[in-house]
Amino acid sequence: MFNKEYEIVIIGGGIGGLMLAYNLVSQNKYKDILLVEKGRPLESRSCPIVTGKVDKCIKCSPCNIMEGMGGAGAFSDGKYNISTEYGGWLPDVMDSKEVLKYIHKADEILMSFGATKETYKPDNKLKKLCLQYDLHMQQAEVKHLGTDANFLTMTKLVDYLKGKIQIETLSNVVDVNKDTKEVFIKQNGKEYIVKGKKIVFAIGRAGASNFRKWCDKNNIQSYNNQVDIGVRVEVPSIVWEHFSKKIYEPKILYRTKKYGDITRMFCFNERGHVVTENTDGILTVNGHSFKQEEKKTENSNFALLSTSRFTEPFKEPIEYAKAVASLANMLSGGSVLVQRLGDLENGRRTNEKRLAQSTVRPTLKSVPGDLSLCMPKRQLDNIIETLHALDKVAPGTANHDTLLHGVECKFYSARVKCTNFEIDDCKDIYALGDGAGFTRSLAQAAANGLIVGDILNQKAQ
Ligand SMILES: Cc1cc2nc3c(=O)[nH]c(=O)nc-3n(C[C@H](O)[C@H](O)[C@H](O)COP(=O)(O)OP(=O)(O)OC[C@H]3O[C@@H](n4cnc5c(N)ncnc54)[C@H](O)[C@@H]3O)c2cc1C
Repeated sequence: MFNKEYEIVIIGGGIGGLMLAYNLVSQNKYKDILLVEKGRPLESRSCPIVTGKVDKCIKCSPCNIMEGMGGAGAFSDGKYNISTEYGGWLPDVMDSKEVLKYIHKADEILMSFGATKETYKPDNKLKKLCLQYDLHMQQAEVKHLGTDANFLTMTKLVDYLKGKIQIETLSNVVDVNKDTKEVFIKQNGKEYIVKGKKIVFAIGRAGASNFRKWCDKNNIQSYNNQVDIGVRVEVPSIVWEHFSKKIYEPKILYRTKKYGDITRMFCFNERGHVVTENTDGILTVNGHSFKQEEKKTENSNFALLSTSRFTEPFKEPIEYAKAVASLANMLSGGSVLVQRLGDLENGRRTNEKRLAQSTVRPTLKSVPGDLSLCMPKRQLDNIIETLHALDKVAPGTANHDTLLHGVECKFYSARVKCTNFEIDDCKDIYALGDGAGFTRSLAQAAANGLIVGDILNQKAQ
């Protein structure tokens, strides 16, 4: 049952919202804290594709991959980057040393709930090898929790919070009145109204689109002009083993010769699985990998995306990427596509027969097809050129049977105009994490939760 009023209402139970709650609870300056989560409790989250009940996404609502306690990170690979070099834009709004301090603090909290202490260190020999081919490897100390261990850590964090704050799952915040601070919540078909003295949006990518609409409705400025579009590449794991065994995750930038565009290789999953992701009903691809040996596959996969930055008057990069991804959904009969690189380069579709002949076996049942029918030429040219550049440091990357699952997009939420994470002209309403356009990783979203926690704790004094 909801109270009429709370000192703090947190919207979203992802890593950002959870770390915020942890910080508030540990300082004990607020008594009534409500955390409202649209998705299911962590232990009830189960994707029917992952459990093998269905072959393709049946668009569950809520989506058990993106929504629910633990947020989008609950079933992630649990790669935790101890760096501010990538993973978000917090250093745009704060001193990067401060951000790093919070990343370390979040890491310590996660370790206290069982996360591994083992880290992969940067490797200058591999960086030099890349530089010889105009490939630019970003370096960071990386932790790999693994999907299974990451899930356990999240479970312990949520269990710690239970009883200390009120957590309401399967509860969707449909509106917030910025003047009266009323929060409108739909739960089991009923609508509840609660008041929050302070309200924090920690809504992640799954809530970004509605948050943007809320900002527009309330004349709150938000800004975004970037989107990344590309494919999930799947190759035999031995192809990138000389990198993954040393640094776990190669993150490599390349500027294409043809267009001068930036492409990024990232989100590497060693001996992992390609998975689908549902964003507002549009299916895209992603990847993850388990730590347990018996759950590992023969393939590694990574995202290879081409960055597009738009200029005025165009302001809808997310809608643009969704339109591209929805073409792949349309062509595949409501799923995602897979094509062999050799077929793509030879201008022919991968069909069932050709896929059956592939030496690389897909870990996701994507529909064999033709990516050139849905992906814009520019992005596709960039991806093919980059695969050949990567092939120089990891021969085998641009093989005929290299599998390209598409479309993969990274939608970056519009950055809402804030001062110290308090939304401009919305006193006592804050925004953090991926959904507010500040972060795009577990580490920075976790740090952002702690930062806002410190701001709120100071205000309570
Ligand atoms: C498959 C996958 C793998 C990933 N792997 C990695 C990785 O290995 N390393 C890494 O650094 N990052 C990874 N990421 C990204 C990482 O998960 C996110 O950067 C991180 O979870 C962002 O945290 P957040 O708290 O901002 O948002 P989220 O974790 O997305 O949490 C937001 C929560 O808010 C809830 N919500 C949204 N709207 C409402 C509403 N109106 N009412 C109530 N609740 C609402 C959502 O249901 C969600 O649970 C991965 C993402 C995915 C999808």
